[in-house]
Formats: sequence, structure tokens, C-alpha cells
Amino acid sequence: MKAVLDHIGIAVRDLAAALAFYRDGLGLEVEASEDVASQRVKAHFVPVGESSLELLEATASDSAIARYIEKRGPGLHHITLRVDDIAAALNQLKARGVRLIDEQPRPGAEAALVAFIHPSSAHGVLVELKQSRPSEEPVANRAIRSTTQRNSRYQIGDLELTSLCDGFFGLDGGSMFGVVPRVLWSPKAPPDEKNRISLATRPLLVRGVRTLLIDAGIGDKDDERFREMYAVERARNLDHALAEAGVAPDDIDIVLATHLHWDHVGGFTRRDSAGHVRPRFPRARYVVRRGEWEAATHPHERNRASYHAQDFVPLADAGVLELVDADQTIMPGVRVQRTGGHTADHQIIWIQSGAQRAVYAADLLPTTAHLPDAWLLGFDLYPMESLSAKKAFKKDAGGETLIFLPHDPAVAAGHLAEQNGRPTFQLAQ
Ligand SMILES: [Zn+2]
Ligand SMILES: [Zn+2]
Repeated sequence: MKAVLDHIGIAVRDLAAALAFYRDGLGLEVEASEDVASQRVKAHFVPVGESSLELLEATASDSAIARYIEKRGPGLHHITLRVDDIAAALNQLKARGVRLIDEQPRPGAEAALVAFIHPSSAHGVLVELKQSRPSEEPVANRAIRSTTQRNSRYQIGDLELTSLCDGFFGLDGGSMFGVVPRVLWSPKAPPDEKNRISLATRPLLVRGVRTLLIDAGIGDKDDERFREMYAVERARNLDHALAEAGVAPDDIDIVLATHLHWDHVGGFTRRDSAGHVRPRFPRARYVVRRGEWEAATHPHERNRASYHAQDFVPLADAGVLELVDADQTIMPGVRVQRTGGHTADHQIIWIQSGAQRAVYAADLLPTTAHLPDAWLLGFDLYPMESLSAKKAFKKDAGGETLIFLPHDPAVAAGHLAEQNGRPTFQLAQ
């Protein structure tokens, strides 16, 4: 096991005095604080080279940090070691009889997985293990993926929603963050040696009066060169996910497209044994926005690489295509809304039943790293339209709305929240 020092947690009684020492005395930079509400603690990170100091300030007298200070005085509270594969590390420790506070990894800040080791087994030191979001390390990528490529199910009133995964792929980090420089995006989405960041493709199954599938992933028609260029990894794919959800291809009544980019609709069709490309869901009607259909079937130099005709033209040939012109209800509880921006007719999908609501954000909010308004995709054809659509979306989708992200490598769904005036994404339970 390879472990790297991530940070050292220090319990602080008097924050002003601690800042006078670390910031003013030592000249270190102190980042904006982070509230960890569940622990009733405020964390102030002080980067020191590759690691950080974490100054921990209690926000309530019954918090663990307050109790710690009461008992032992301020000082060193814990050390955090970053490992590639936290599950393997815990198994290894368990096998040696080490006493663990967390037998299983649990979600920590920034979609990391964390687990604590009891100080009685660590020579008096509280040790936290941490596995970051996907990094350059393929092993870490695999570990995170394996935890998030299983189906996750949610109930929205009478509708049952299942987030599926059609595997992973990699896109150039620069093109995923537009004008945002690599120094800012790379800590949130670590690139591989070819500057690609790891992305999931997550279609959404909606079961109500009908069975409806939103987008269908990358599919399996692409050649080796393409799969290599985009680091396509579909060892576990939509077939497995649908089977796990108990859905056969014949059970799908409606397939709904957010837009026709290959990473969303590659799975709309499949090559049969005779080599003909046919609709993958034989009984389904495929619902596509008319403007998007026009754009995809008449591509220009700027968007041509995003569209693969064989993903959607065979639908028209087979007579299963249904073009819609305006925002409307596709089946009870499922409504499309044009956002534009990414493509002229890109749409998001609102799902409502009773008082509960969810939304499939599509490429308006592809990952948690895209939360800040100006962190827009370089692919967007109309970025100013994306910007206003995203602002409106963040207002509309606040609070209780369950938001599905199509491409986050570690997170399928969650809620928008705010922390210290900055937008954050809370994982769905
Ligand atoms: Zn797209
Ligand atoms: Zn996409």
C-alpha cells in the first residue's frame, strides 16, 4: 500500500491566535474555511507544499473537537493519509486485527472516500485514510468507479428513477472547462498523461405509467481507434445496468434524447449480426427535439465530431423516430425544457410526481466540478446562452430537487446547496 500525507488536523481553541501564528507569523496562506455541519466544526486549510494543515475550530460546545480540547487541550488531532485503494487498505488492516472506527469507507468532502482508524491501534494517533476522486492513478480511478457504477434508485412520488452507468470515457480537460485554466480545474478533475479527465456516462431510467430511458450512453459501435482516443471503458455497461434493474430491451417504451452527441446516444442503436445498424430498443419510440435533429443531420465544421449519424439516422429509417418542437410533457411526470447553449436545442428533463421533483441536467451541468457559473464546456456552441441557462437552472433546481449529473465520475445524483456563499453539491443519500 502506498500512502501519502494529505493533511494534519490540529484542534484549535483560539482561531485568531492560531491565524496570527500560521498566517501572520509563518506567512502561510489560509484558504476559505469549510463548514462541516455534521461535525459542528469549521475547517481552515493551510497548504504546506503537497500537504496541508487543517485548523479545526469547534462551532458548538458538544462537537467532537470541543470535547477533545476540553479533555486534552488544543493540538494535534489527526493525520490523514491518502491511499490509492481505500477498500483494499481497510481489508489489509482488518486482516491484521487493527481496530477501525469505520469498517467501510464513507463519503467525505469533495467526493473523497474516507475512513478512520482507532488511535488505540495506531500508537495513540487518530489516523484518517482518504481516497481522492479519480486521479492520474488508474488504480484509484477503478476503485472510485467500482463504487459508483452500480445502479442507484430513487423514488420521486409515483415514479421510480434508476441511475444507470454505461461505463467511462475521457475527454480533454481543457475542452471540458472552456476558458478556465488548467491550474484551476486540474485539482477538481485530475487529468491523465494525455490531459484527459475521467467521465462517466449515466443514462436515467424512469418507471411510471411507461418505462422511459433518458439518453443511452456511448454504446458499442465504435472502432478500436475511437475507443482508445476517448479512453472508452465499458467492461460494465448499460446492458449490465438494465439487467440489474430488471429491464429487458423490449420493456423500454420511450427513449428520450437530451441531445444527439455520441456520448449520449451511441447506445440508441446497435449493429446486428448481419452488420446492419438498428434501433437497440425494438419496441420503443425515440423522442428527439426537431431542432437538434436538424443540427445533427446537417453538421458543420464546429460540431461535426460530436455527431455520429449511425447513432440516430437508423431510427428514422426504422420509423421509430418522433420529433417534438416545443417544451412539453413526454409521459406523465416527465417534461422536456430547452436550454440551448451546449447545442441550439439541447434540453434538460424535469421529473415531477406529487410534491417531489428531480431533473436530469444533461450537459448543462455535466459534473460537480461544473457548478460555478462560468465553468462552461468548451464544446458549448452558444456559451452566453449556457451561462444564462445555468444561472436560471441553479435558481430553479435549488432546495429539494434531486439533480442527476450525466458525466460525474463519482456522483450520480444530489442536491444543490450553498456553503460560505459558494455553491456546493450534496450527495443524495
Ligand atoms: Zn453534449
Ligand atoms: Zn455529454
